[in-house]
Amino acid sequence: MVDALEIMKRGASLLSESCPRCGGLQVKFRGRTLCIAEDDISDTVKTEVIGIEDTLSGLRDLSIKKIRELGHELDDEKDLDKQIKKAVLLRKYVDLLKESSAMSSPPNDRGANEKGSKSKTSESS
Ligand SMILES: [Zn+2]
Repeated sequence: MVDALEIMKRGASLLSESCPRCGGLQVKFRGRTLCIAEDDISDTVKTEVIGIEDTLSGLRDLSIKKIRELGHELDDEKDLDKQIKKAVLLRKYVDLLKESSAMSSPPNDRGANEKGSKSKTSESS
């Protein structure tokens, strides 16, 4: 059950219906239904989740690094034209940082979006 726990920690949800083939537990993960007994959960966790998490954390690190660099450069930059270019780039890295952070954290961590939309979109009911 270690793999099952692992995939749950990664955001999979346990389905109430058991597997039609073997009667085992099923989880829903990234839009796919997986049977804990039959499907290679650990492989799925490795290839899909860790790959995505690695990419996202790589993007976050890069964004933070670039934001810092550009921040320092902007501080010293006298040329207005270059300032604008660097500011635009800085802005893009900030967006990238926000997006990569938002994608890797659970949606209910962000309270800001909840007030605007009253429609229930969560599947976790
Ligand atoms: Zn099964």
